[in-house]
Amino acid sequence: MGKALRLSEKWFRRGLWLVALVFAGFLIGLGGTIVGDLPRVERPLALDNFLDQGAAQQLRAQVRDARQAEQDAQAALEQARLQHAKARSETLAEREGFSNWLAARSATQRAEHDPEVIARTRALDALKAGERRAQQAVQAQQQALLDARQGAQAAQQRLDAIEREGGQKMAAEQRRVELRVFLYRLALTLPLLAAAGWLFARKRQSMYWPFVWGFILFALFAFFVELVPYLPSYGGYVRYAVGIAVTALVGRYAIVALNRYLERQKQAEQLPDQERRKELSYDVALARQAKGVCPGCERAVDLKNEKIDFCPHCGIGLFDRCGHCSTRKSAFARFCHACGAAAAAQG
Ligand SMILES: [Zn+2]
Ligand SMILES: [Zn+2]
Repeated sequence: MGKALRLSEKWFRRGLWLVALVFAGFLIGLGGTIVGDLPRVERPLALDNFLDQGAAQQLRAQVRDARQAEQDAQAALEQARLQHAKARSETLAEREGFSNWLAARSATQRAEHDPEVIARTRALDALKAGERRAQQAVQAQQQALLDARQGAQAAQQRLDAIEREGGQKMAAEQRRVELRVFLYRLALTLPLLAAAGWLFARKRQSMYWPFVWGFILFALFAFFVELVPYLPSYGGYVRYAVGIAVTALVGRYAIVALNRYLERQKQAEQLPDQERRKELSYDVALARQAKGVCPGCERAVDLKNEKIDFCPHCGIGLFDRCGHCSTRKSAFARFCHACGAAAAAQG
């Protein structure tokens, strides 16, 4: 993937990058479909699978019954209270009527000889007894309500204890499941990453580089989307450890590549001028000159200074004179810009 200088070549390269992206997109789609169609390795966990089923069901039934009883008692209590209030108001009305009647009677008459006074006193007593019964009914319902409420609480507490224990077992199983899912995904992704690494190291400059880069993008996507989110955390240890390992790997690759480049450059600078000129591709040399650096060693050189014919850093010839018309011209140009004579003639 050297630097392209021809206009059409530039656009071809852009188009080929598009091909790489589209290729990666289709690979990602295919990968996603395959992962989606794979049999589900893990079914979702349910708390009930980790409980003593019999005991839990019994307790749940108890809680349900007790709550129902509580509701029933509450309804009955309201009824009883209403009845009690009614009986109470009847008694009050009768007592009031009686005392008014008594006040209206002549004070001289003796009450125990008056049958109406006796009858009314009896009626008042009967009403009073009814009121007491209503009061007792209210108390009985209050007791029932309290019993039901306490029964429900006790059953709920036992149920909570069982569920807490089951929850702990489920959390442990959940961690094992997460690890299995991760290993399973790793088994799918690792070959892709290995292939992408090999392609990057060996084939990224081959003629079919758009497909190579498409595959590399696909593998990176698979790594960051299909694998990294499923990394078991273990409190962050695994993530940080993997991050450190990946950074170390990439960093080591970059350092080795830099040293290899410097080594190669140093060796190239030892070679005679003509040898080095042959190693440099025409387009690369022009691109480097356009950036104001020496095409041989990539160090900065003032190419506009007409007195500089050789790189002061590596000694490669930058400008020479045409063998035909002696015009000063770039040593890398293939033809003299003044007379059109082929530069190879002077080499
Ligand atoms: Zn140089
Ligand atoms: Zn010339």
